Amino acid sequence: MKIGVLAVQGAFIEHEMALAALGVSCFEIRKAGDLSCPFDGLILPGGESTVQNKLLRDLGLFAPLKEKIEKGLPVFGTCAGLLLLAKEIVNDERRCFATMDIVAVRNAYGRQLGSFSARAEFKGLGLIPLTFIRAPYIARVGAEAEVLAVADGRIVAARQGRQLVTAFHPELYDDLRVHRYFLETAGAAGS
Ligand code: GLN
Repeated sequence: MKIGVLAVQGAFIEHEMALAALGVSCFEIRKAGDLSCPFDGLILPGGESTVQNKLLRDLGLFAPLKEKIEKGLPVFGTCAGLLLLAKEIVNDERRCFATMDIVAVRNAYGRQLGSFSARAEFKGLGLIPLTFIRAPYIARVGAEAEVLAVADGRIVAARQGRQLVTAFHPELYDDLRVHRYFLETAGAAGS
């Protein structure tokens, strides 16, 4: 199995380390030519979604990645990655892939008090640690999407088919359950 990690901006190294810890090979996606080899899943890291959105377009990555996601490539978006996948963002006009039927709220916890840790039940995984960094949350999910975790009354993880999003950063912990969960989707898709 091989996972592509979008590496144009943000916290992509941490995802690469999580994948390495799980013994899964990955490669960095920085330009259109990087998409020439087949791969089984895509990670969209945290960072700044507006910058990533612009770079994806400038680098010619937007259209081919959107097509792959629409065709069923498993994708895992954390934080900014969640915003890239959201069909709707209540407080931002900009959209990127817009392949996932969720309504997100950007910088939803305020800019100054935007970083904090918590714990919540993640469907099928039990209690997991959560770190939020100027995070979005999901105000609601459409009929096709499923809520996977709620913290403080707010939806912080969801999936829709092979698309998985978390408002928090599982890559910042040694706890690799969420990555393993994603890889199971990618494994199932590849087989
Ligand atoms: N606030 C960022 C954004 O709107 C997301 C923060 C993150 O990815 N940690 O894109």
